[in-house]
Amino acid sequence: MKKGFTLWFTGLPSSGKSTIADAVAQELKKSNLQVERLDGDAFRKTFSSDLSFSAEDIKKNNERVISVSKSLTEKGMAVLVSLISPYRQSRENARKEIGDFVEVYVKCPLEECKKRDPKGNYKKALAGEIPNFIGISSPYEEPESPEVIIETDKEDVAQCAQKIIATLKKLGYLG
Ligand code: ADP
Repeated sequence: MKKGFTLWFTGLPSSGKSTIADAVAQELKKSNLQVERLDGDAFRKTFSSDLSFSAEDIKKNNERVISVSKSLTEKGMAVLVSLISPYRQSRENARKEIGDFVEVYVKCPLEECKKRDPKGNYKKALAGEIPNFIGISSPYEEPESPEVIIETDKEDVAQCAQKIIATLKKLGYLG
């Protein structure tokens, strides 16, 4: 069985986590791995509709994502999680629990994220219609030592995906 791992994409809303995780998932599927995508929005709808965006509930939601990722990783899967995960402590818990854990910081300046705003959430948050919106009215704690940093305002999707694939090879998760 191949060794499983979790690629954990963290970053501001609209930084490009889902877009890049989807691109990397397509690449990984070519190499015979069992690939599972866990997306923050979809996960919340299915498993965490009882939770709000208070700090406490964000942490609870993160804990649920960690336990699912851990179990899939232990089965030998390549798990790609796209989750804002704004708290350093939650991401450190993920690292400790999952073990085979690769943190990807999807870095993009807030001003650029606001401009992109594919779901229109920044617009609503800035108008005061979404309370506790991460990046606007709720904090995002930048990773201190992620395995890889991609800068989505400087590199295109293919370049970002390749950088992540190269990191997986360097770490021995990909042949
Ligand atoms: P997130 O999952 O972080 O909320 P999304 O992937 O949903 O972000 O949205 C990011 C938006 O930015 C998309 O509309 C995407 O097409 C655009 N974008 C522009 N350049 C890039 C890039 N280099 N990497 C990722 N996304 C990019």
